[in-house]
Amino acid sequence: MTVQSDAPRASVQPVDTLRTWLDEADRVLVAAGAGLSAAAGYDYGDAERFKELLPALHRLGLRSRYLLGVPLPDDMMWGYWAVHIDDIRFGAQPNPLYRRLRALVGDRDHWVMTSNVDALFARNGFDPDRIFTPQGDYGQLQCTVPCVRETWDAKPYLDRILAAYDRESGRVTDRAALPVCPNCGADVFPNVRVGPEFVDSAFMPAGDRLTRWLGDAPRSGRLLVLEIGAGFNTPGVIRWPMENVVRHTPGARLVRVNPGHPDVPADLGDRALAVPFAADLLLDALAG
Ligand SMILES: [Zn+2]
Repeated sequence: MTVQSDAPRASVQPVDTLRTWLDEADRVLVAAGAGLSAAAGYDYGDAERFKELLPALHRLGLRSRYLLGVPLPDDMMWGYWAVHIDDIRFGAQPNPLYRRLRALVGDRDHWVMTSNVDALFARNGFDPDRIFTPQGDYGQLQCTVPCVRETWDAKPYLDRILAAYDRESGRVTDRAALPVCPNCGADVFPNVRVGPEFVDSAFMPAGDRLTRWLGDAPRSGRLLVLEIGAGFNTPGVIRWPMENVVRHTPGARLVRVNPGHPDVPADLGDRALAVPFAADLLLDALAG
């Protein structure tokens, strides 16, 4: 009797097609949303990890890292930001899933565009000069006014908070450790897009370089857009723009890797492939 494994398995057809399309691609644009970092072990909705990292907030009834709009005292909020960003953005360990993705792209001419603000691409072998992060970077702070377009390295500020952070109460015991704008004294915030005050000046040059690279695509061989984990939370950042890139680039192809929302637009015809798996399962299947 054959015993069937209950483990989910990627079906063969999309995996084989993706393998062929990768072989035929001269250039690859990796376009990623939160689903990729979730598959890589950084799931903002992971309640167990939240409890482990932030026990005081868990006791208050909070269950995920999505805390925008939750009314907390400013020192508790900064305690959260420091612990969360230290974990997500400054972890020193290489990430196996991102490393495998880098190996998959190989020597092909490539770019990355991602809504993720965790720098996991740059931390795992992708060229930082070829990564566009339109939603910002947890590695920087900005003024909330903002009084200047400048941003500041977040690490020294976060280290200062963490040195004064009491894990049990979730409080920052020394208010002098709470960061303020070095220019005007107003509040600061991670340099990520939450509203019109977002300072995008550090990221737009990469966006311009990516636009030029895409403009060269028709003369530089076949483009493959490998979109991973970009659902409908903010489809205007990655998902819809990638459909448009493929739509307007002759010969380009779109691979959409998404366990919940893999659908591709009908007008792209046989130039689009829906892969209904998470990235880890797909990379397992490609390696098999
Ligand atoms: Zn300021």
